[in-house]
Formats: sequence, C-alpha cells, structure tokens
Amino acid sequence: MTDKKLIGVDLGGTTTKFGILTPQGEVQQRWSIETDILEDGSHIIPNIIDSIQHHLKLYDMPADQFAGIGMGSPGSVDLAAGTVSGAFNLNWEGTVYPKRDIEAATNIPFYIDNDANVAAMGERWQGAGDNDPNVTFVTLGTGVGGGIIADGRLLHGVAGSAGELGHITVQPGGYLCTCGKRGCLEQYASATGVVHIARDMAEEYAGDAKLKFMLDDGEDITSKIVFNLAKEGDPLALKVVDKVSFYLGLALANVGNMLNPKYIVIGGGVSAAGDFLLERVQRNFEENTFPNVRQTTSLRLATLGNEAGIVGAASLVLADHAQTEE
Ligand SMILES: [Zn+2]
Repeated sequence: MTDKKLIGVDLGGTTTKFGILTPQGEVQQRWSIETDILEDGSHIIPNIIDSIQHHLKLYDMPADQFAGIGMGSPGSVDLAAGTVSGAFNLNWEGTVYPKRDIEAATNIPFYIDNDANVAAMGERWQGAGDNDPNVTFVTLGTGVGGGIIADGRLLHGVAGSAGELGHITVQPGGYLCTCGKRGCLEQYASATGVVHIARDMAEEYAGDAKLKFMLDDGEDITSKIVFNLAKEGDPLALKVVDKVSFYLGLALANVGNMLNPKYIVIGGGVSAAGDFLLERVQRNFEENTFPNVRQTTSLRLATLGNEAGIVGAASLVLADHAQTEE
C-alpha cells in the first residue's frame, strides 16, 4: 500500500467536491466549486485542474506527495481510456477526456469511474460496508443507482452497466422508465417514484387521509412529505410506503439471491426516512430471499452521506495500486 496522499473528486451537475485523504481513508481537507456547465460543459475539466493546482500551491503540496487523483463522474465511463460520454446533466454531448487532460496538467496519476460505483466504493471502505469484500450499494435519489463490489472487485460488466440496480424490473408492464423500459425499480423507489405511486393510489383511495386532501388540492408533494405523513400514521401515506417497500425489498432480495453480499447498503435522499423505511423493506426482503441469503446478507443504511463521493473516488487510486501489485 502507498503512503502517499490521495485526492478524491466528486463531479456533480451543480457542485464539484474535492477531498485530500490519507491512504487510510481519513479526509484531511475538503473544498468545493460550482460546476460550470455552460458552453457545452467545456469549462468543467479546466476548472477542476485550476482548483486542484490552486489548492496544492496554496498549501505548498508538490505533486509527488500524491499517489493519485480519483474521480466519480456522471455518464458512461470508459475506465481504460479515462473518458466520459453521454453525461447530459453536464452538457457533455460527445466524449470528454478527463484522464488525458488532468494527468497532463497535474502530473498526478488519474483514475475514474461512474458516480454510483464510486459512492459504492466509499460506503464499502469507510461507511456501512465495514470494508467487506462483498458489498452492494443502492442509492435512492431522484433516480436509483447502484454499485456492486464482489470478492473485493467493483463489477463493471462488458459495457459498464453492471450494478444498474435502478433498472431491475419489479413490475412487468408497469410505469414507463426514462430508459424506455417499463416497470423499473427507479420508477417505484426513487423520490419521483414515491410521488408517482402516491398520486395513483390517491385517485383510488376512498377514505380520509391528509395525503389525499393535499393531492386533491393540487399541492406539491415530495417523497419526504409522504414519509413524514406515514410516520404520523396517515393511512394513505402508509399504503404508499408499504408499496415502495415491497418493490425495493423484492429487488434487493433478488440482488441478494444472486450475489449474497455481506451488506446491501441503502443510501441517497429517500433513505433519510431511516429505520422506518428499512424495517418495512427488511420484511419484504426476508420474504423473498433464499434461506442461506436471508441468514447471511444484511440490509443497512448508508452512513457517509455526501462524503461517499470523495472517499470512494480517492479509493479508486488504491484499487488500482492493489491490482498492479498482484
Ligand atoms: Zn429503466
């Protein structure tokens, strides 16, 4: 293992976060910049380079103090080439070359993977994953993403789509997904999915429920409102949460049946509902898992929050070191 420091970069559509970490995973410094997506996102990479160079200069840290820079990016990432394509929320329409450009400017080795995989690596290393070699991560935000670490390796598949847990079919012929397919988990367990389910169930719901009144009044609701109402005992909100938990529990049970990880870690904004959600998902998970998986695979809530991105990105540097030393 290296004794040099690591730089982790979490590139998002609105902010880019940076961290300097020890090889043991302790975040020593952190800072962030706004992500400037104007002019086809052409400023993004130059701004990242400027920010790293400015920071290293300010703290008098030469490039050779660092084992590498790791970055998590939206879009499709070609690991070997170090390129990104199809990152539409960054306004990157063609292929972008972060590895080539950042290595040339900083003289520090650069590693990249997609943001969900990177968050999975972060939770596995310093979060709820206890650094176990078998951890699956699912993130429930505006969409549903995921990452799989199996036998100590991040899985990518032939075209980088391993771990796309958001597109597991949980309801054949169900809600239409942005991917073009129907019935994807993302349409039922993301923040927008929760609201979609709430609207549909409210239409058919005949009883008294605050959630129904709010929807009938045309009020804007969010998944957070649905979960808070359910916690207060609102009968419709409870039905919605039960439905979300069924779909999520079913999908995670099948992930468990296939991979038998030590932990399936649940993160992202929707997971802020905490144990209230976890207990309900757990019941559906147990009902649909193979006995040996039920006894050995645990569901857990993520613990790193926003920091998973920079921590996981930094860990890409170590993963590469481990592989080249084999
Ligand atoms: Zn889909």
